[in-house]
Amino acid sequence: MSQENRSKRDPRYDILFDPVKIGPVVAKNRFYQVPHCNGGGYRDPSAVTEMRRTKAQGGWGVIFTEQVEMHPTSEIAPFIELRLWDDKDIPALARMADAMKSHGALAGIELAYSGVNGSNLYTKEVPRGPMSSPILTFFKDPVTTRAMDKQDISDLRRWHKQAYRRAKTAGFDIIELYGAHGFGIIQHFLSPLTNQRTDEYGGSLENRARLMRELILDAKDEIGDTMAIALRLSLHETGGFENNEVRDMIEMHGDLPDLWDLGHGSWEDCSGPSRFVEEGAQEPLVRGIKALTSKPVVGVGRFTSPDAMVSQIKRGVLDFIGAARPSIADPFIPRKIDEGRIDDIRECIGCNICVTGDMTMSISRCTQNPTFMEEWRKGWHPEEFAPKGQSNTVLVIGAGPAGLEAARVAAMRGYDVALAEAGTELGGRVRLECRLPGLSAWGRVRDYRTHQLSQLPNVNIYFESRLATQDVLDFGFEHVAIATGSKWRRDGVARRNLLPIEIDGDMPLFTPDDLLSGDLPEGKEIVLYDDDHYYMGGVLAELLVGKGAKVTLVTPSTLVSEWTINTLEQHRIQSKLLNLGVTVVTTHGLQRINAGSATVDCTYTGRTREIDCDSVVLVTARLPDDSLWQELVAREDEWAAVGIKSIRRIGDVEAPAPIAWATYAGHRFGRELDLERAPDTLSFRREVVALAPLDPVPQSVSETAPSPVAG
Ligand code: ADP
Ligand code: SF4
Repeated sequence: MSQENRSKRDPRYDILFDPVKIGPVVAKNRFYQVPHCNGGGYRDPSAVTEMRRTKAQGGWGVIFTEQVEMHPTSEIAPFIELRLWDDKDIPALARMADAMKSHGALAGIELAYSGVNGSNLYTKEVPRGPMSSPILTFFKDPVTTRAMDKQDISDLRRWHKQAYRRAKTAGFDIIELYGAHGFGIIQHFLSPLTNQRTDEYGGSLENRARLMRELILDAKDEIGDTMAIALRLSLHETGGFENNEVRDMIEMHGDLPDLWDLGHGSWEDCSGPSRFVEEGAQEPLVRGIKALTSKPVVGVGRFTSPDAMVSQIKRGVLDFIGAARPSIADPFIPRKIDEGRIDDIRECIGCNICVTGDMTMSISRCTQNPTFMEEWRKGWHPEEFAPKGQSNTVLVIGAGPAGLEAARVAAMRGYDVALAEAGTELGGRVRLECRLPGLSAWGRVRDYRTHQLSQLPNVNIYFESRLATQDVLDFGFEHVAIATGSKWRRDGVARRNLLPIEIDGDMPLFTPDDLLSGDLPEGKEIVLYDDDHYYMGGVLAELLVGKGAKVTLVTPSTLVSEWTINTLEQHRIQSKLLNLGVTVVTTHGLQRINAGSATVDCTYTGRTREIDCDSVVLVTARLPDDSLWQELVAREDEWAAVGIKSIRRIGDVEAPAPIAWATYAGHRFGRELDLERAPDTLSFRREVVALAPLDPVPQSVSETAPSPVAG
């Protein structure tokens, strides 16, 4: 970074750039990228490596891996994280450590032994935990842990020592032991819920902390002279290892680890979506802990504001600003603060779409940063763009998330961009949806892009410009992106009903589009039918209750807003609606809408019943708003004569999906302008597993097999 840029830093933020000692190593600043999943893990090691490298470039002082399964007797298949089971895993991790350190950051590895959270579906090993207990996973696998005996504990310590040495060989600077979110064996031993042992590892806090102490002392013996040992703990486990005991434990062992990395509670608490959790929400749980230890304290809180970060440091709450999601949405936050470019920060909106990549074992995407996990696969850099190709002009039609991102990326590449919007404001669906209960932070999708476009001299925005087919042909831009969005259906068709249902015209009928444009149902009793299963049904129920309506939410699913399991908010949504007095009718489809009622049928028995109501709101499915596209395609033979080289539809007008899909489509449009790709080739790079020999397996004890005496 140039001295010139650095001098632009607001001196108020200098404190964020203080070096901080962590045991035998020193972080160059206070920006600590805490471990976070990405859906790539061991399957996509190069994609993960380049993702972490962008964070190094972006100025983070400490960069971590996601959780690394440190032994095959505890793995979390089908979730895809990293592995350090034997020496074969070292090269991939070494490459990651190298990338993390490429700009002076410290490279951290989070070692996880998953205990009661690991079903071992892949290795088929018997899971181990402090006591015999059902495995506590998302999927309620019908598997039980075996209670660890003394030999098991001794094995566990030995396996940790092996992992410490391997982490050192791989080149990491910090080892963090995972004892947070209910996911790590250290927490399982610390918690009186999962540890009801009666030996010296159970009972008193001192006893429950014994394993933690042994593992850290072993680490200090093995690698503590050159590597820092950090402990990641949850600040509060309801009914178990609660905040007062966490504080007692830290006071008892204050100087044992070289750093305390403190998460909120469960993963759902710690990665709380903005709909329910504000920036800096964990402060009441972490405040005062710094006084209990001389070692640095890290905390998280979806921090995107440098003022909030400075406040945490100056008030003595934290030493390091921990961040996962903010570092995903903008890997360059530290550098932008350092260079005085606060307005360029692409703030996380707290939607948790990134989490869904892990939950669906696919690969993560980010609503705000479409380059996330595409750094290696597609060569997309969050801040750098290839110069434009041989064309010059681009017309983007529609200023929703897809159109805004397409215009931004095309303009960053140097094209002359015209953005035409039918309405009087930018943002498309986000402009309206961010007014719904709890979704105000989603407006950042529009705000970031609006600011960026305002800084680009080669973008012209035209409001109140609903373009028709002839307009597009008359203008003759070389490339056209049609980003005209979608509309909610009013015929009941979605997943349960694949054909339109019978609807009596006397029943007032509403879709989310109506409610978003301020057209609210009349009457008191409203049936809201949700066959969409993401956030919209639940949010609209909340909106209607707030307007005084009595809402019955009917869904064919067993859960309200079922897909939000993947964004870690389903439980919060359903409990909120129940507490608001919404009547929830699950496992029922909507069969027919009558003049004064809705007929619903049980998805199991087919039995029907009537629910009397004054209005019905259908949250079902969306259809592309693609008449402009269709008409232009019908006149494709006229394109070349007016100078049009390509017309593409992007975002919801192509295939309605969450906002992250639209920003991705817009980004891709901008990146691929004038890009020639051979037909029928993959649009990204992937890694294919190297084939191993088919030789018979030697029937002897292998390096990683559990100790034969431990059975
Ligand atoms: P996406 O999520 O794909 O970005 P949105 O529905 O959020 O789609 O945004 C679509 C935007 O396109 C809206 O702001 C809408 O006003 C605008 N729009 C729709 N049709 C036209 C048109 N023919 N000309 C210009 N703008 C249009
Ligand atoms: Fe933030 Fe959403 Fe991006 Fe995750 S996907 S980092 S929550 S903006």
